[in-house]
Amino acid sequence: MGKVICEKHGEQGIISVCSHVHDAHLNKTKLLIQAITPLYIHVCSVCYYEHNIPEIEKVTIEDVVALQNQEKINRIEKLALKVEEAIGKEYLCGGCFQEVQFIC
Ligand SMILES: [Zn+2]
Ligand SMILES: [Zn+2]
Repeated sequence: MGKVICEKHGEQGIISVCSHVHDAHLNKTKLLIQAITPLYIHVCSVCYYEHNIPEIEKVTIEDVVALQNQEKINRIEKLALKVEEAIGKEYLCGGCFQEVQFIC
């Protein structure tokens, strides 16, 4: 994971987020955020359900490690690229990300 120097939080890890999460950060509001674990991307719930993301999460670590399911992994990689485009991927510092995350 890359590093970023945030004016407010200093040196932090970079978190990939959808454009809505980034907007919420700019507007100082909070959003419910879903993690797309295999891709290390965090998106709002609208993006999560609109872009078939539950499909991606069907890939398990075992699938990736074992490489037994190459076809499935190729399909997921293509899907992942599509998702990154669709959500208008942006970046936040780790501290800013914590602030925008709505925890219920
Ligand atoms: Zn979104
Ligand atoms: Zn920050």
